[in-house]
Amino acid sequence: MTQTKRPLTVLLASPRGFCAGVERAIQIVERAIERYGRPVYVRHEIVHNRFVVEDLEAKGAIFVEELDEVPDDRPVVFSAHGVAKAVPAEAERRHLVHIDATCPLVSKVHREAERHFECGRTVVLIGHAGHPEVVGTLGQLPAGAVLLVEDVAQAEALCVPDGSNLAYATQTTLSVDDTVEIVAALRRRFPAIHGPKMEDICYATTNRQAAVKAIAERCDALVVIGAPNSSNSMRLVEVAAGAGCRKSRLVQRAADMDWGWLADSRKLGVTAGASAPETLVDELIAACRERYEVAIEEIRTTEEKVVFKLPRALVA
Ligand code: SF4
Repeated sequence: MTQTKRPLTVLLASPRGFCAGVERAIQIVERAIERYGRPVYVRHEIVHNRFVVEDLEAKGAIFVEELDEVPDDRPVVFSAHGVAKAVPAEAERRHLVHIDATCPLVSKVHREAERHFECGRTVVLIGHAGHPEVVGTLGQLPAGAVLLVEDVAQAEALCVPDGSNLAYATQTTLSVDDTVEIVAALRRRFPAIHGPKMEDICYATTNRQAAVKAIAERCDALVVIGAPNSSNSMRLVEVAAGAGCRKSRLVQRAADMDWGWLADSRKLGVTAGASAPETLVDELIAACRERYEVAIEEIRTTEEKVVFKLPRALVA
């Protein structure tokens, strides 16, 4: 006797998954392997996703954490998160072939921080301590020139040398709503603070959060496919909870899914962080189909057409 499967509606948030910066970073590693042969070294996970990293390892990439692990005769790629100025400087000193896969939207924040510093302003960086993007942005300026603020409490307690000569920049993958509150606290305390004309939180982070908000109230549960060290993925879990979804969690791939957690759910929201490939979404849906009678409803809140050029050295 065949058992009837329980119905499950999957509300698929769109946009989700790979952003233009991640697509570009992966292509840079692939092109570098084609051009220079195996192995090509990559400093830090090119993007925060094990699946992507393992795929590139199979193609000939070797991932390391520091430049001193790279032999003199092999090229090295810097990850999409960006690096402190000292890193390319050291690569130059060693005459390493080095290719920068920093997302152009992260580079834009680096340039902003430099510009403020040149104008004599103290720069306040809103971001998460220890995240590679934050380490890279702090490392654009001399030690101590950038003050890191992680939340409203730190913004309220911030001590600065001259409150009339301040600017702020942000990590690109923060929660849009949390950042609004932190910026408001800074503006309240330092009305003359300079900020970016357009927010530093990138289009991909903003769009993925908006797409989750659009489905959150309709979902009994929501799964974000992504890695625990992926900032934008972790923020999607929080955004879902904040927007009215009863329970939300991060899952790296279908094999990690706790199906008992879904036992009382009829509507499952699904999204993926900017570094998670669509194959992992397909895999999760296939795993759902094995257990439920699945109906898919895709909710698209915006179209994304952003594409970033590859570095000139890898084109043609
Ligand atoms: S999440 Fe945003 S900043 Fe990060 S790589 Fe993607 S587009 Fe660039």
